[in-house]
Formats: sequence, C-alpha cells, structure tokens
Amino acid sequence: MKNLKLTALSETHRRTVILVGDIRIGEDFVVIAGPCAVESESQTIKTALAVKAAGGNMLRGGAFKPRTSPYAFQGLGLKGLKILEKAKKETGLPVVTEVLDSRDVSWICEYIDVLQIGARNMQNFSLLKEVGKSNKPVLLKRGMYSTLEEWLNCAEYILSEGNPNVILCERGIRTFETYTRNTLDLSIVPSVKETTHLPIFVDPSHGTGKLSLIEPMSLAAVAAGADGLVIEVHINPAEAMSDKDQQLTPEMFQSLMAKVEKVRSCLAEL
Ligand code: PEP
Ligand code: MN
Repeated sequence: MKNLKLTALSETHRRTVILVGDIRIGEDFVVIAGPCAVESESQTIKTALAVKAAGGNMLRGGAFKPRTSPYAFQGLGLKGLKILEKAKKETGLPVVTEVLDSRDVSWICEYIDVLQIGARNMQNFSLLKEVGKSNKPVLLKRGMYSTLEEWLNCAEYILSEGNPNVILCERGIRTFETYTRNTLDLSIVPSVKETTHLPIFVDPSHGTGKLSLIEPMSLAAVAAGADGLVIEVHINPAEAMSDKDQQLTPEMFQSLMAKVEKVRSCLAEL
C-alpha cells in the first residue's frame, strides 16, 4: 500500500499504545459499551452504571446521531454531552462520542475523552483534518464501502495532522447479504495487524444488527486478535430511540463479558 508514511507497520513502529486515563488501548483489552444514543440523564447514567458493573472500560453514547432520515431522532447535542460528562463523574468511565461536523470538534473535546468518526464520515476529509489537529484519541470506523487501503489512508489524514492516536474500528460492510444489517469482516482484524501499528476494535452491534449474533461475533473478534470491542447496551432496549434491535440489556452484556474473559484466558494459553 502506497503513501502510508505514518500508518504502516514498520520495524521501528510495531504497535501504538494510546493512553486514556489509566487505560492503555492497544495493550489492555478494552470494551467500550453504552447506548446508541444519549436519550436522557437517567437512561445514560443507569446504563453507564450497568456497563461499569459488568466490567466495561469506557462509555459510548451518541449526542449527535447520523440518521438515514432527517426526521429521525438526531441526538441531544450539547445537552447529551453534559449528560455524558455527568455519567463519567458518576462512574469514572471515560467517554466516547461521535462528531459529525468539523465545526464542532474543538468544543466537543471539552466534554469527552475519545472522538468517534462514524462509518458515514470515514472519508469526510475536512473532518479528518480537524480531528487530526485535536489532542483527543480518535475512534475511526470503517466506511461501509471501504477497502482496507482507503480506511488506512483516512487514518493517515489524521496522523499527518499531528494526532498519532487513532483506533480503527470494524463495523461491518455492505454486501449482497440482507439477513444481517452489515457483513462483519473479521478477516480485517489480522489484516490490520499485518499492515499497521494502530489498534483495531470490532463493533458487532452495527456489524450484525442482530441481538442473537452479537455474542458469537464478539467472541470471534476476540479470537481473531481484536484489541477491543464496541457494544451497544441500553437499560431498556425496547424503548430505545435508535437501533433498538441491536442493543443488549445489562444482563446480556454481563453474560457476554464473562464469556469474553473465558475466550481471552483460553487465548493466553495458546
Ligand atoms: C455509532 O456507533 O453510533 C454509529 C452510528 O455507528 P456507524 O458509524 O458504525 O454506523
Ligand atoms: Mn447505533
């Protein structure tokens, strides 16, 4: 792959470790979990407490939602960021949230720990340049029609602006298959490992869109060598304002976390 001057794996740069509080992304196995969207203070804080109790490491939640329809819930904006800040205070969990617009990057950074670039914005180059100038780590999701080379070039945009802290996140790609929401491409995990030093996470929630598939695909992602997972969890999925069919209950998340630990300990013995 050409021109991956900063992103490519090399003898001198084999692994990027990103510090968020005392979490070492790329070294520790990290689970980012929480609702698709921040809907209210009580929904977010109850979910955050459940994520923490089950052993999740970071809280996710969208305050700005990229929705297919302009009439669908777009997120709470600033109010949502303030709720995330409060959830962090109550749980100690660092927070990850999506930024949609380059004009919002600098002020959003005052409320959160990790900026997320969503699949729909993977090649929004002005947004990539702006997060590249920020001092926050960036969770860069794979675009739904993107090759590994295109994805890594987007990471290169961020690194070339001076921000070395990029976490890649596979979230499924569009194929002819319609049974699942997307096709989760787990072969990308070892592919990323042999081409770049950046950490790679897997999001089986958007990657499958199906409750029954989230646990098996999480375990498969761990076995494939993922550095972490991104999982949607909601205190009451039936009432969720977005992605209600793919959000785990706290009980399901707790059971998934126990199995993830088992797979990790099996792997450690290999
Ligand atoms: C999300 O994680 O909230 C999201 C919108 O995901 P994606 O960009 O992968 O669709
Ligand atoms: Mn979602």
